[in-house]
Amino acid sequence: MCGIVGYVGHRDCTDVLINGLSKLEYRGYDSAGIAVFNHNQKIHVAKSKGRLQNLIDRMNQDGKPTGCAGIGHTRWATHGEPSDINSHPHSGGRVTIVHNGIIENYKEIKDYLADKGVTFSSDTDTEVAAKLLDYNYNGSPIETITETIRDLEGSYALGIIFADHPNVVYAVRKESPLIVGVGENESFIASDVPAVLDYTKDYYLLEHEEIAVLTESGVQIYDSFGRKIQKELKTADWDVEAIGKGGYEHFMLKEIHEQPTAIRNTIMPRIKDGLPNLEECGITLDTLRNFRQIFIVACGTAMHAGMVGKYVIEKIARVPVIVDIASEFRYRNPIVGEGDLVIIISQSGETADSKAAMHLAKKMGAKTLAIVNAMGSSIAREADMLIYTHAGPEIAVASTKAYMVQIAVMYLFAFEMALAVGKIDEDECRRLVAMLEETPEMIERLLEKKEMTQYIASSLITADSLLYIGRGLDYALSMEGSLKLKEISYIHSESYAAGELKHGTISLIHDGMPVIAVATQKELFDKTVSNIQEVKSRGAKVILICRDSYEPETNTADLKFGLPEFDDLLMPMIAVVPLQLIAYYTSVHKGNDVDKPRNLAKSVTVE
Ligand code: GLU
Repeated sequence: MCGIVGYVGHRDCTDVLINGLSKLEYRGYDSAGIAVFNHNQKIHVAKSKGRLQNLIDRMNQDGKPTGCAGIGHTRWATHGEPSDINSHPHSGGRVTIVHNGIIENYKEIKDYLADKGVTFSSDTDTEVAAKLLDYNYNGSPIETITETIRDLEGSYALGIIFADHPNVVYAVRKESPLIVGVGENESFIASDVPAVLDYTKDYYLLEHEEIAVLTESGVQIYDSFGRKIQKELKTADWDVEAIGKGGYEHFMLKEIHEQPTAIRNTIMPRIKDGLPNLEECGITLDTLRNFRQIFIVACGTAMHAGMVGKYVIEKIARVPVIVDIASEFRYRNPIVGEGDLVIIISQSGETADSKAAMHLAKKMGAKTLAIVNAMGSSIAREADMLIYTHAGPEIAVASTKAYMVQIAVMYLFAFEMALAVGKIDEDECRRLVAMLEETPEMIERLLEKKEMTQYIASSLITADSLLYIGRGLDYALSMEGSLKLKEISYIHSESYAAGELKHGTISLIHDGMPVIAVATQKELFDKTVSNIQEVKSRGAKVILICRDSYEPETNTADLKFGLPEFDDLLMPMIAVVPLQLIAYYTSVHKGNDVDKPRNLAKSVTVE
């Protein structure tokens, strides 16, 4: 959550900070703020509740700080409501900071400092860290930081400036992500690489408790004892174009359109001679043979990708799969251990709950496999095995292309697993892989006919609540369809196993209530149609997502989105597209901020 940036160099610092924050605003947008060393070497703070634009407007009115070093923040509030006073940067006196994360023991520290006469003006945990740094300050920033972080519990990425060390930016992190960008005669800190791509592709990944010092003459990195260390410089493989909107009205629409390419980039390097080949990810047929059961642990959309994975793996490999929400898994003392495989799925690779779940699984003796999009992220680095998805940067908060490649990887994995345990032979495996390879083109064709999804969306905007129903893989998919809609349209919706409705939820159906029925599975089609008729006869307005060849009767559906003929097993790869588009256009019709829905942030680095 939240984005932090920092800059030291020859450009106008405020411009660089604002530009960086605009690339990070997807991480939180409750407030924005900057602190810059002015040309007279004094710190100038500007901050404002709400979107980055509010800060820009305020600076246009009150004057914009100019200088060549400073720090900036865009907030996703955890402690204290979104307000001007709770906005970052926070000052402790001689020390000013921006913070991403949560200081878990802030209460104890606050009480301790209050006893010493220190006063506080905000409700944030961040101000407590600023005041502690100031309290410990002995003239040496490095010593002060190393001493202070010993007392900080929780997660933090901090950008720090000291009033008596002008034009120097310090940074330190634990749990929360932070990179240090290195350009020519300039350097940066940022929560994520896209914030610096306009200036440089070279960066250091700061590890736990490492401290970066940015000065006019370059970057120095220290360990948690204050000893200078050397680090490997990395080069980002994303370019600036990849993070622009490319002519689309919203990032979400652009990302929906990028799905065919994302699938190709993700699966093609992992297919050899028509068969899955995951050797470079540390996975061989031998490794896969030995697992007794599989857990898939993730949050939100990634968990829904895990649900698709469960149905596919169990169906073709006959290996038991348990899907768990990471925040539940980590605290329920799961029965997991040696002989088990725990798959962690996370777009950002920094999801706090998923990371903790992975640590727990490792501690309990299970092998871990990460499926992650962000290169070099914590989960990617710490898992035993790793499959990168190659979706490129995903900016819209509501995930589309990252989900798509997560399920593509689930398929490849399931095919390889089924082959490993002898449930399918090589010929069957090749047939399945070939179908997976067909999906990008099928999606391209689907994206050419968006009118029906626009029409369906316009029929939903007045709804207070709706249901998504399906069976089997369609149920797994309907969970994602429902989440997508509520995330960005703010219309309440639930996804239900179609056969389960009559055990309670059907009482919600009333005249005109929309029900989106996903019925792509031939095997279960008649069963789902019976459930659809149950809701239809109670007044529901049914929107059916099914094969084009099916002609619904008037007692079955009011509207239909037709999908091309395809194998049942792979249907989710294409059937998710209309669900994404329905959510997207509903949000657009309602005039919502599609890419930055309220209360959400993209990379959930807090518990
Ligand atoms: N915990 C801090 C706050 O509530 C930082 C939150 C963030 O990561 O944006 O202000």
